[in-house]
Amino acid sequence: MDYERIGLKVGLEIHQQLNTRRKLFCGCPTVLREKEDATLTFKRFLRVARSELGEVDEAALEEEKKQRTFIYKAYDSTCLVENDEEPPSELNEEALDIALEIALLLHMKPVEEVHTMRKIVIDGSNTSGFQRTALVATDGWIESEEGIVGIETLCLEEEAAQKIEEGEDAVVYSLDRLGIPLVEISTAPDIKTPKQARKIAEKIGMILRSTGKVKRGIGTIRQDLNISIKDGARVEIKGVQDLRLIEKIVENEVKRQLKLLEIRDELRRRGARVERRVLDLSDIFAETRSRVVKKQGKVFGACLRGFGGILGIEISPERRFGSELADHAKRFGVGLMHTDELPAYGISEERGAKG
Ligand SMILES: [Zn+2]
Repeated sequence: MDYERIGLKVGLEIHQQLNTRRKLFCGCPTVLREKEDATLTFKRFLRVARSELGEVDEAALEEEKKQRTFIYKAYDSTCLVENDEEPPSELNEEALDIALEIALLLHMKPVEEVHTMRKIVIDGSNTSGFQRTALVATDGWIESEEGIVGIETLCLEEEAAQKIEEGEDAVVYSLDRLGIPLVEISTAPDIKTPKQARKIAEKIGMILRSTGKVKRGIGTIRQDLNISIKDGARVEIKGVQDLRLIEKIVENEVKRQLKLLEIRDELRRRGARVERRVLDLSDIFAETRSRVVKKQGKVFGACLRGFGGILGIEISPERRFGSELADHAKRFGVGLMHTDELPAYGISEERGAKG
């Protein structure tokens, strides 16, 4: 693959937990516990508040609509700060020192004043409804065989609570991890090949470990990848834990985006269009034998004119274009079936053709 020709750009965001004695905003130890050792369990609902600028976060509003209950497990090694029943204490200086040391190793410029800011997070992973984060340094660089990659920012943040169970209506979190200091390092989108992405991630990991002050083991370091190609959309892939996977992940995402562009060109060539009208097809399916459809109650249909065969095209391993659309539909609580995949789900060919 000629990555230069397709204009590949990759940026990394690396989250590394620091091995400090205490948490970022309280005196609790930074140790993980056996979940059965919890001494207290409590429930919360989170609601969106306006930001200091009077704005409401759209993503947070969507989350609020789900109206889920959050259940938290607390321990004899956690305190009222994790429960959000007591204000945070001052920023942990040991953590700040380590963050500055890492910043200097990455040739970054420390900011003149460090200020703690709030990022709204209401998926329950923070009892307060926001994550505290502080910008520590900017404008550094790291070198690889394939060239220099800029390091844009280094932030000192609190780790989120750990999700240990998730159901439709409730999510269970463990508070032992909440508040462990971590650094978030963001590179510029200077990375040009999948191999370089892995090499840079490895090198940053090596620099972090060389301080002797970061946590080791599974889950203590996580990478987010921002991947784009010319004419494609920027896609963020979150929470990659195994560096060896980075190359493969970038390769697959590039293939997916190229395939999507190919589909776009084919649809343009065919003059394909999506009919705006959504039809209620419940009557046609009234006597269906399909259990999936029966369970839903209502059936709606839309005509994708000129899309024949397109939804069945594989865009990445084990994934078809139809699955992409189904994922979007699912976010609005709707299941999706299309004629490229019928007969299936117990739907007959005639009914499928009618629908
Ligand atoms: Zn605490």
